Amino acid sequence: MRDGAATETSWPKRDQAVLWHPFTAMAEWCAPDHSPVVLERGEGVWLFDVEGKRYLDANSSIWTNIHGHAHPLINSAVEQQLKRMAHVSFLGTSHPAAIQLGEMLLMVAADPESGCPPLTRVFLSDDGSTAMECAIKMALQFHQMQGDSSRCEFLAFDGAYHGDTLGAATLGGIDAFHRRFSRFGVVTRRVSQIADLEQVEGSKIAALCIEPLIQGANRMRIWPPGMLRQLRQWCDQQGAFLIFDEVMTGFGRTGKMFACHHEHVLPDFLALGKGLSAGYSPLAATLTTSRVFEAFLPAENTFFYGNSFSGHALGCAAALANLSLFHQDFWSEQADKAKALHAELQQFLQISEMVQNQRQVGMIAAFDLVQPDGRPFPPTFGAGKRFCGLLREQGVLTRQILDSVVLMPPLSIKLGEITWLCQRVEAALQSFASMTASSTSESC
Ligand SMILES: *Cc1c(COP(=O)(O)O)cnc(C)c1O
Repeated sequence: MRDGAATETSWPKRDQAVLWHPFTAMAEWCAPDHSPVVLERGEGVWLFDVEGKRYLDANSSIWTNIHGHAHPLINSAVEQQLKRMAHVSFLGTSHPAAIQLGEMLLMVAADPESGCPPLTRVFLSDDGSTAMECAIKMALQFHQMQGDSSRCEFLAFDGAYHGDTLGAATLGGIDAFHRRFSRFGVVTRRVSQIADLEQVEGSKIAALCIEPLIQGANRMRIWPPGMLRQLRQWCDQQGAFLIFDEVMTGFGRTGKMFACHHEHVLPDFLALGKGLSAGYSPLAATLTTSRVFEAFLPAENTFFYGNSFSGHALGCAAALANLSLFHQDFWSEQADKAKALHAELQQFLQISEMVQNQRQVGMIAAFDLVQPDGRPFPPTFGAGKRFCGLLREQGVLTRQILDSVVLMPPLSIKLGEITWLCQRVEAALQSFASMTASSTSESC
């Protein structure tokens, strides 16, 4: 592959010649025997590549899509907005879609049962990392303004993922992603479980961050129930803020609008992204309380943070349409779908000796691939990646996390499509078993 060569004719080859993809080992990507999937169209849970081949979008286009691709109502909301205007500065001016979205977000985030101070302000930005960056800087600045500048450390969990900007990346606890940059960002102390908090000097902590209920990028690790209330209490006792990163878990993915609603706990900062615009465009939000907001009111306390595309109008229009689709029957339908997904996967995953740790929260399902004797595969074997390659042949797109396979289709998936998806996964598992059997005998 020649770098920068534009002489190739097919879309995959042209991509390989000029583009650099995120989280992607580019030598493998550019290898002549690899043909990248180039998608050109979507409809519901289905995506179509430039050759016309159809795939089920089994990871909701990296956890962003909620109601399916090219949804008529969301499309028309975006088209209507586009006819009026695509984007205006959010520094010094505003627009109706953002205002309505702010109102709606506060309504859907409310949880009177929590007994926690309500979230009353919405700071719009443009992606999940930025939503976290805003929470980080708001927390730091708040404590400075209180004359407590020594409160400048963050507590974050092992295996956490909060985004890739420098501050958000420092909070991250996944070695492969974060190790190279962790010493450049905010001061972070790492804990692995609630019990570790006993060792922490709370008076230095600006905020504690967690992905509530389930850590996405950490192979869909599910937290023990009841944890959020304990974290809330610890933070309140220590005078530290609590940040919930619901960039992945938000907008119905876990079976409720937000994961924190399962345990009736509200944070001081709620970071939203991905599904906020139903996966249509970059848009993010950091929600916070009146207590935080009021501290920033004097001119000298202005929050100097903004992106060129903060509160993008097309994204806001998509987000408003997104929220209007969570109607009354939505939640009971979701519960039925989650049950169906679990039951259908269970049928074959449970009896496969090459599968461990089948797990699920709402419409997020995952399992780990292991060798038939239960040992993990050697990392160099790339079991997860091979499996997702087989799934691709079956017409299913998803992305492994090491040897964990993630299935989290758009929430709009129909029961029949869940069945289809599970049949394809079962077929891929069979090919995977024969493939590993032959590749182990080859290596003997
Ligand atoms: C994806 C993700 C982010 C980062 O969002 P981007 O939009 O990719 O910047 C942050 N936190 C969690 C939990 C995520 O899953």
